[in-house]
Amino acid sequence: MPPPPLNRRDRLAEILERDGACCVWCGRDVGTDLVRATTEHVVPRVKGGPSWLENEVAACARCNRQRGNRTPAEWLDECAARGWDPSPATILASLERLESAIEERGGQRRARRYLDSQLRRLRNRA
Ligand SMILES: [Zn+2]
Repeated sequence: MPPPPLNRRDRLAEILERDGACCVWCGRDVGTDLVRATTEHVVPRVKGGPSWLENEVAACARCNRQRGNRTPAEWLDECAARGWDPSPATILASLERLESAIEERGGQRRARRYLDSQLRRLRNRA
């Protein structure tokens, strides 16, 4: 039996504990009232990405909104080009966690294709 799903606020708290209280895209501290933390789906929901902790990282509301439909690899490049301080290591770790979770739980065929191509792109840079 999988553990009962956490609500959004509890998921966000777990993510901040796991990854630190920084926006994964710009590096700003999201533990303050000035910069609101949101949960960001690494594999987007429209691409079949599940609302699992393994697929979620913390991002500030601005970066989350501005990412739009960009893939994680594209948006990491764009953030770096803007002079921000993105965390490719956090994104890669999330993709790898999601890959293991899907192997364990099965399903998620659409997400898996997207995930595979993003894993290839990010691993090729390391
Ligand atoms: Zn940000």
